[in-house]
Amino acid sequence: MARPSYMVVDLAALIANYQWARQLAPQAQTMAVVKANAYGHGAVACARALQPSVPAFAVACIEEAMDLRDANITKPILLLEGTFTADEIAVAAAQDFWLMVENPLQVEAILNAHVCRPLKVWIKIDTGMHRQGLHPSKIKGYRAQLMASPKVLDEMVFATHFASADELSNDLTQIQLQQFLQTTKSFEHALSLANSAAIMAWPKAHADWNRAGYMLYGNSPLDQDHPSSQGLKPVMQLWSSVISMRQIETGESVGYGQSWHALRPSTIATVAIGYGDGYPRSAASGTPVLVNNQRASLVGRVSMDMITIDVTELSETKIGDPVCLWGPGLNINEVAQHAGTIGYELMTRMTQRLPIRYTD
Ligand SMILES: *Cc1c(COP(=O)(O)O)cnc(C)c1O
Repeated sequence: MARPSYMVVDLAALIANYQWARQLAPQAQTMAVVKANAYGHGAVACARALQPSVPAFAVACIEEAMDLRDANITKPILLLEGTFTADEIAVAAAQDFWLMVENPLQVEAILNAHVCRPLKVWIKIDTGMHRQGLHPSKIKGYRAQLMASPKVLDEMVFATHFASADELSNDLTQIQLQQFLQTTKSFEHALSLANSAAIMAWPKAHADWNRAGYMLYGNSPLDQDHPSSQGLKPVMQLWSSVISMRQIETGESVGYGQSWHALRPSTIATVAIGYGDGYPRSAASGTPVLVNNQRASLVGRVSMDMITIDVTELSETKIGDPVCLWGPGLNINEVAQHAGTIGYELMTRMTQRLPIRYTD
């Protein structure tokens, strides 16, 4: 008695991927980025599994950090965008949250805050992404103000973020790296640059702290095949089953809006997953799925609760057969391409309707 649709989250794969990130950059400390509900995998469960191995976590905001503290996650947690309002600073100090400081208002708020102990501050430098970070020419001044404040620990970290590290032939990464090293060279502070793509493909960007996100969940962010992908194992598997079968004639259409017509007599399997679960409505006809572990193509529009698959070329598909939408046998990046997006978005947009089965 259950809708046959669920997500599997393989926590052993998560831990193995974390160890792989460390192996690729053995000199660095590697924090685990578990923002956006651990990229849709369940932040508390993932943080519990990773906690014995990792020195620190990173999230996007204080709400996400508090959810981890409420679940007895005790390691330091970096707020990647810092605070949004001044009242978060005292909470951050009390809870051992590390603060990214990326704009002048955040600097001012820290200097004026009342804190129970000094804050661990990461100064974010805008080296070329132009989304967050202080201008390189202002770093010396802001650093001096923060260092002079009793509210801030002397052990600060300088950080930056890459815009295009996933593109292996893009020069911007090298330019950002140079700008960062130039801006920080006269200070003794720890450095942090690398996201997953830089951990995997830009060893010069490995520094004191690496920030691993997407790769922990077992897929490569890189735009090309690369040896550093070999140690990754997908953590998320999306499963459902065939719930209905039919034969249609040449010329007949399938689904809302008649977006697909059969070019031959076809066998159509209906599967119990849809955009209400997070499967992307933008997935076009031709998107691969695995029916009984064999590749077949999605045809017609994705509905809220169902999709339709052309199984004409498969041997005897029947109601109840297992269907994998992505997982170890079908890379989420490939599905994302057919949906005009990236694996990051597919993972994070999974909805509450799908039950998660954790394995380890
Ligand atoms: C999300 C994020 C990361 C992790 O990026 P991945 O590509 O998922 O590894 C690292 N640093 C910052 C500042 C981030 O926002």
